[in-house]
Amino acid sequence: MADHYETLGVSKDASAAEIKSSYRKLARKYHPDVNPGHEDEFKAISLAYDVLSDSEKRRNYDMGGGDNGQGFPAGGGGFGGFGDIFETFFGGGGGSAGGPMPRTQRGKDALVGVNIDLKTAAFGGTVDLEVATAVVCDTCSGAGTQQGTKVETCTLCHGSGSVQRMTRTLLGQMVTNQTCNSCHGYGTVIPNPCLNCQGDGRVRKQRTMKIRIPAGVSDGTRIQLSAQGEVGPGGGPAGDLFVEVMVARHEVFQRDGDNLRAAISVPMTAAALGASIPFETFDGTQDLSIEAGTQSGTVVKLSGLGATRLRSETRGDLLITVDVMTPDKMDDAQRELLEQLAKLRDEETPRAQITTESRGVFSRMRERFAGR
Ligand SMILES: [Zn+2]
Ligand SMILES: [Zn+2]
Repeated sequence: MADHYETLGVSKDASAAEIKSSYRKLARKYHPDVNPGHEDEFKAISLAYDVLSDSEKRRNYDMGGGDNGQGFPAGGGGFGGFGDIFETFFGGGGGSAGGPMPRTQRGKDALVGVNIDLKTAAFGGTVDLEVATAVVCDTCSGAGTQQGTKVETCTLCHGSGSVQRMTRTLLGQMVTNQTCNSCHGYGTVIPNPCLNCQGDGRVRKQRTMKIRIPAGVSDGTRIQLSAQGEVGPGGGPAGDLFVEVMVARHEVFQRDGDNLRAAISVPMTAAALGASIPFETFDGTQDLSIEAGTQSGTVVKLSGLGATRLRSETRGDLLITVDVMTPDKMDDAQRELLEQLAKLRDEETPRAQITTESRGVFSRMRERFAGR
């Protein structure tokens, strides 16, 4: 009768862990899928493990009770319950799903934010952006190995990336595929990992990129830069870089879709008499025409001086809301003149004028909400 301890290469007082470990090593070595022509050796170590891994069978075996009636005939058959394990082990459906995981994989997409000013958002431009992403390790060019060394096939799973485990359940032996602990599913190991990247094939690096901001972006717009994201493990292709735009407040202009808005104050006299007022825009100084009789809240439009429409050559408008300044801190002469004016306009004892549907603040608001 075969000596099961000798078959597994362990001592008589080997622990369960030692037996298991030794069995695994030998089972991989003699597995018929890997090493055809060694079916007999494999059966021997499988039987040895079957006996020695079961404490009751092992005790029985140690006391000279043999294999619990399960001999080991050369011609097959009589394999007893153990045969079932054998079938399960080699039967269909036990294959590794998908095979080993490739060491080189596509990297993840990355998202960074960039602060830009309103002018850049409206008209486009280039900004410098600090980005920290994984880049290819230049020591090993992504291979993950030290110079002059190579990746090697994993000896535990023989390159499959997974190992089969047998577990006993009430329903019998179950065989499951598990990720190989030695190679973490890659099927290969790196005996001498690159010292710069520890075998990952990539390193984290801060770099400054010039980002072209297209005209017409607004707060929250994401610019996609293909293959500028994280380089993948093993120096795999980089994911995309998404740059999310954050537009800083401007002290004069606000964005309103494709339009720009600003607000100015004009003296009451200019509003009443009309005037041409110089106004600094992104397109240089423009003469703002204030018509005689301009009311507070009137919007003066400078056509085509708004923001550029995204992916277009056309532009929105610049809309300037006029606020009429009421004179204060008047001297006597000014006050007299105004009193004279009030008299001429029969406004010495003014009455409140109800703002009607047809004019005033409310109708303007209504027009805006109606999308006029
Ligand atoms: Zn490296
Ligand atoms: Zn492995």
